[in-house]
Amino acid sequence: MHQYDIIIIGGGLTGLRAAIEASESGNNTAVISKVHPLRSHSVAAQGGINAALGNAPGAEDDSWKDHAFDTVKGSDYLADQDTVDVMCREAPSAVIELEHMGVVFSRFEDGRIAQRPFGGAFFPRTCYAADRTGRNLLHTLYEQLTDMDITFFDEYYVTSLIRDKGRITGCTALNIVDGSLHGFTAKATLLATGGYGSLFARSTNAPINTGDGAALAFRAGVPLKDMEFVQFHPTTLYGSNILITEGARGEGGYLFNNKHERFMKEYVPKAMELSPRDIVARAIQREVDEGRGFEDQFVHLDLTHLGAEKINERLPGIRSIAMDFAVVDPIKSPIPVQPGQHYSMGGVASSIDCSTPVPGLYAAGECACISVHGANRLGGNSLLETVVFGKIAGESMVKGVKNISAPSIDPVKSALKAELARIDSILTRDKGENMASVKEDLKNVMFDHFGVFREEDKMKAGIKQLEKLNERLSRVVINDGGRLFNQSLIYTLELQGMLLISNAVAQGSLSRQESRGSHFREDYPKRDDEKFLKHTLAYYHDNKTVIEYSDVTLGRYPVKERVY
Ligand SMILES: Cc1cc2nc3c(=O)[nH]c(=O)nc-3n(C[C@H](O)[C@H](O)[C@H](O)COP(=O)(O)OP(=O)(O)OC[C@H]3O[C@@H](n4cnc5c(N)ncnc54)[C@H](O)[C@@H]3O)c2cc1C
Repeated sequence: MHQYDIIIIGGGLTGLRAAIEASESGNNTAVISKVHPLRSHSVAAQGGINAALGNAPGAEDDSWKDHAFDTVKGSDYLADQDTVDVMCREAPSAVIELEHMGVVFSRFEDGRIAQRPFGGAFFPRTCYAADRTGRNLLHTLYEQLTDMDITFFDEYYVTSLIRDKGRITGCTALNIVDGSLHGFTAKATLLATGGYGSLFARSTNAPINTGDGAALAFRAGVPLKDMEFVQFHPTTLYGSNILITEGARGEGGYLFNNKHERFMKEYVPKAMELSPRDIVARAIQREVDEGRGFEDQFVHLDLTHLGAEKINERLPGIRSIAMDFAVVDPIKSPIPVQPGQHYSMGGVASSIDCSTPVPGLYAAGECACISVHGANRLGGNSLLETVVFGKIAGESMVKGVKNISAPSIDPVKSALKAELARIDSILTRDKGENMASVKEDLKNVMFDHFGVFREEDKMKAGIKQLEKLNERLSRVVINDGGRLFNQSLIYTLELQGMLLISNAVAQGSLSRQESRGSHFREDYPKRDDEKFLKHTLAYYHDNKTVIEYSDVTLGRYPVKERVY
């Protein structure tokens, strides 16, 4: 049995930033991560992190309030304005802190941190490290922790949260390397497990982004918030769906259809390619659906006019991705792009201090819905959320563990028994459904029925298919019955959680009879503030997903039509 004051589940940017705070307070802290922290998905972030530093020429007047306004407008007014204020107000000091820790930001000639334009932002305010911002941030935070008194459980897969008398008091985790199951107690537990992008085919996310935190919380009786809001990024590389950063359009890239028209002028003549992601993604999908795409699949993102020097300096990673995965050199030819799943706006319901409705449990980063992104996230705001709310989560847990006595180990012992039985039932089944094919079918159902354009009949058909997938899941069989480094077992445990939370995405989408941000209903194409200026809360009761609604926190920015 492992006993800690604070347990952080997740070694990405959120988890590591929280760990710094927890460890500095002297609390006995552990970080549990199913992959080595440096392989967490944060490492893949490309384009940058937002802060109103006002460094870019002409952006001297930028302020955190402008940033907050852009964020609220970008969210289609669903973001909670108090949490947005916190994030945007803290942004400049968070970025400067990262710089002081050693992040190698790109610079303007005068030495100040460089900032590029991103969609939906009035001023260029995205700070970046070429197109490898996440890697710079993650390595720097990890380096900070190497000096601190903290225990890392790398390649441990958390299988359940322990709930004792209404409080979360720890978790169980499988050591992936040797197959042993471990019990943990904690006075405070943080979920920092990233998004649920792997629910969808055509995703920019790594296969590890399976929404485990949401599933762990859902099973433990914690509501999930706004799960239907799934961001589809406009520009993913055709064929592999690797992300082509918004920074490519920020640096001046153009989108062309098969008639060589910059078609964005038909949709948003002013902001064009730098409109927010939901709008550009829908425009591209329309072009393709109406026959103006290439091979009925993609449009062109043209960077050729930027020239070799700019591309090599600002977008070197994008150039090599395009060359390696599409055999296209962006210096000479346009990149084939199509919309793909990219970000999870929904997640574990958590408050401004990162606490959840269940005492002892906190959630932050992409796995949480603290509601800074509402119905559509602006590029560059997610990295910001990880560091701002990672820090706040750490601070809240430090406060929260004061005067709490060590939890009982008995509930952990019972949970270990139950989890062993669940694992054994997978390992010992010798006939049934192929796990990989159930997973692939799930991704296709989610993309086809709950994708860029949604509609009632299509979604109802999708929900029927999810029911069938649930039946198949109960019969899933894997070829490896061993315990050592059994990845098939991990994939199956992940899949159980994925199907569980798919229901929350599906039911939330069906119930929301309006279009807002990333959630676009062909049958309800208008926003309906009267009925749906609300957060969706999904509860898991008696093996069923139940949908309720709660109020949005409004503030200084009145709810208006969203025009760019
Ligand atoms: C390709 C790409 C590019 C992006 N670029 C940008 C950008 O330029 N700017 C921006 O603002 N945002 C960007 N984003 C979004 C941003 O990178 C993520 O939202 C953010 O990094 C998420 O960080 P996180 O700490 O919440 O989670 P992650 O970095 O995903 O970390 C999750 C952690 O949880 C652990 N974990 C998960 N489940 C379990 C379990 N069951 N047991 C134990 N451990 C578990 C994992 O091992 C991992 O350590 C991008 C996203 C993608 C996909």
